Amino acid sequence: MNNSLKSYIMPTYGERDLEFIKGDGCYLYTSRGEKYLDFAAGIAVNSLGHCHPKLVQALQNQAKILWHTSNLYHSTNQEEYAAMLCKNSFAEKVFFTNSGAEAIECGIKVIRSYWNYHKKNKKKIITFEGAFHGRTFAAISAQKNLKYSKGFEPLLPGFVQVKFNDLYSLNKAIDDKTAAILLEPIQGEGGIRPADLDFIKSIKEICLKKNILLFLDEVQCGFGRSGKMFSYEWANIEPDILASAKGIGSGFPMGACLSTKEACIGMTKGIHGSTYGGNSLAIAVGKVVLEIISNKDFLSNVDSSSRYLWKKLKKLEKFHSNIYEVRGAGLLIGIKTKSNNLGFSKALKTNKLLNVPAGDNVVRLAPPLIINKEHIDEAINIIDKTLKEIND
Ligand SMILES: *Cc1c(COP(=O)(O)O)cnc(C)c1O
Repeated sequence: MNNSLKSYIMPTYGERDLEFIKGDGCYLYTSRGEKYLDFAAGIAVNSLGHCHPKLVQALQNQAKILWHTSNLYHSTNQEEYAAMLCKNSFAEKVFFTNSGAEAIECGIKVIRSYWNYHKKNKKKIITFEGAFHGRTFAAISAQKNLKYSKGFEPLLPGFVQVKFNDLYSLNKAIDDKTAAILLEPIQGEGGIRPADLDFIKSIKEICLKKNILLFLDEVQCGFGRSGKMFSYEWANIEPDILASAKGIGSGFPMGACLSTKEACIGMTKGIHGSTYGGNSLAIAVGKVVLEIISNKDFLSNVDSSSRYLWKKLKKLEKFHSNIYEVRGAGLLIGIKTKSNNLGFSKALKTNKLLNVPAGDNVVRLAPPLIINKEHIDEAINIIDKTLKEIND
């Protein structure tokens, strides 16, 4: 139990009454040996579950050789991993970060430096209602959500927000000062709201026609979570810039900003940097995560697991009037209830199913990508039971 009066940690996270001391695959264990099925995965982070043997091995091997040298020096491993990322995506260049918000910051710098290079006065970045891009000043300025920005004014100028999945309001906001459009293909914190594939396709067309950069935030929905390596693949388009993090390290803190060669033309020597970004330990883990997830069989497994889970949840949706809607894509799923989502989330946890609440009264399921049918059946039983209890 964390008694906030006695804690030396800033109380930004509030009371935290659960503590796990061990993780194994899709399960977490408390000090009393209680076992929880982890459908939260450290907020869509532990893509390969807890303590995946190949990741443990990679980290232990690297820890014995070299931890950190900084970006003052060349790193063959870093180069190789960057090449792997590019081979598995639209990208031609990579900047390594330690988190999602840093990858967003980098992407915004890519945009600003691009238009500066081309000597064009384009400063406006369009974002969407319900967006979440992180907690830095640029991110809270971009997402324009008072929940994250109240009291931190003045925010950074240059961001304009329009309605999500609404072409009309997007078109209305675009002018010759528009530098970029920043979109989460599936909104995470905002309530697991997928952008319509037609909406994404139209955005791409607009970007091409009006000379605007397309910047995707796939920090949460990328890296296999949607059933494809990156979720933009579902819309058959490619962005100019993409922020990745969360699942990329399966629990090792890392992130990356991916870009086409053209879009990052302004990112020249000395213009940006990070002390830790692309550190030896992170690269060692990242390489193995990418090797495993980019495998076709792995991704088709994620796709079939997610379809199985989806089918079962849709059955529950029919059966339980408390479920307003089940939505999302792949293994990023939102259950929107009529009753309060925080109550539902807590009740699920009491029944040993970890989950994370999201915006718009949603309970989010983001299990490790390695779940199998037995894990899914176990989760469905708990959700069914919990919904019955709530109705009683
Ligand atoms: C979590 C998240 C971020 C921020 O990542 P941090 O690692 O917490 O900085 C940015 N964008 C999206 C879509 C996220 O889900």
